[in-house]
Amino acid sequence: MALTEGVRLFGRIDRVDERAQWDLHVIDYKTGRAQEEPDPEQLRIYAMILARTAGRPVGMTSYLYLEDGSVWSASPTPAELAEAEAGVLQTVEEIAREREYAPDVGPQCTFCDFRGICPRREEIAARGAGAMNADLRVPL
Ligand code: SF4
Repeated sequence: MALTEGVRLFGRIDRVDERAQWDLHVIDYKTGRAQEEPDPEQLRIYAMILARTAGRPVGMTSYLYLEDGSVWSASPTPAELAEAEAGVLQTVEEIAREREYAPDVGPQCTFCDFRGICPRREEIAARGAGAMNADLRVPL
């Protein structure tokens, strides 16, 4: 979806239901356990994209936690969707302005294709030797 000139958003929404009120319900599947206070930002961005592309309102958004079947739902307001859009555009602007990309060591290094040439590879190897073998989800 073209958000503005030069900015296109790509994504895949897990599930969209039509509600009885004829608006749409965005559902995102989560593999982990339910959180006490989930971050609604991802759902708001999905809702903003879907509302634009489908030309229909999104009246409900939900995280569905597969581990225990629990559901967390919220009805995004137009102001929240506008805020989500502004947040995406701000992030795009920040990325466009950035000129240095310092390597950010974290759990993602376990799966990184560039670990062999990473400037911090020695530190990563020292920190992650056990973690990478035992449990891929253990922070380095
Ligand atoms: S291995 Fe290096 S480049 Fe890859 S994610 Fe980790 S810090 Fe970033």
